[in-house]
Amino acid sequence: MLDSEWFTEQLPGAESAFSLKIKAKLHAEQSEFQHLEIYETEGFGNLMVIDGCTMVSTRDNFFYHEMMSHTPLFTHPDPKRVWIIGGGDCGTLREVLKHPGVEKAVQIDIDERVTRLAEIYFPELCESNNDPRAELKFIDGIKWVKDAVPNSVDIIIVDSTDPVGPAEGLFSAAFYRDCFKALSPNGFVVQQSESALLHLKLIGEMRDAMSNAGLSHLQTFFFPQCIYPSGWWSGTIASKVALAGFREQDCANKAFDTEFYNVDMHKAALAQPEFFKKAMAKK
Ligand code: SAM
Repeated sequence: MLDSEWFTEQLPGAESAFSLKIKAKLHAEQSEFQHLEIYETEGFGNLMVIDGCTMVSTRDNFFYHEMMSHTPLFTHPDPKRVWIIGGGDCGTLREVLKHPGVEKAVQIDIDERVTRLAEIYFPELCESNNDPRAELKFIDGIKWVKDAVPNSVDIIIVDSTDPVGPAEGLFSAAFYRDCFKALSPNGFVVQQSESALLHLKLIGEMRDAMSNAGLSHLQTFFFPQCIYPSGWWSGTIASKVALAGFREQDCANKAFDTEFYNVDMHKAALAQPEFFKKAMAKK
């Protein structure tokens, strides 16, 4: 919704809304899959909105992109092959490629227009798109994983829109079963899992579906994300085998720069709030 100077996303069921003051509407189009908008805001740089939902802002995207990439990559003992399902703004790809051990990172977004707009309005997120280890595919991630050769990937990062429209199937048990087959023996999925305050039921159902597909070792982690509903977001790692902490020493010695992620933030993100523990225990 746009009220002259403000972009507002109303949050269904929460009787609340999030607004950003805007300077200009830079772009709007209906792609084959979704409605895409770009705004220039007063305080958050550029903003991408998909189907009325905030996706990426210049100012605060680093929380999400760093946590959705470095948390799983330092959890895996030796990640070499990474897929990003969704992630068309390319920010997660950029962070993944900061890891020198990664040999191949494939970003599979259903909507090429998201990436073409990111190249124009978020060029800093696209700065690693020409890395020789990067490959950009524009097809349905559900089909990509279904057709995959078994044991062909170490980490699948699901950086998708909310579970409606084209992303709905990315939260299904059938998708997680296909992920299980595509993953290497100690591989795992990490998926953006919405807000624990607003979407607790969905997180529970998602964790159940992951578990039932054999990805039964689960870790939900939490991080701030100002422009998303409630300002507090989560990711969930679902692994074939038990997770033995994270590579703390490698993380402490990382040779690349981050704005949020570090050893302490990794540990802090794994702390489980009481209401979350109770809700997951009841299931
Ligand atoms: N960080 C964001 C969030 O949590 O709201 C997600 C941003 S990213 C731009 C989401 C991407 O998922 C979009 O570009 C959309 O095209 C893509 N997407 C949705 N469904 C998909 C599917 N089935 N296969 C591949 N990409 C998909």
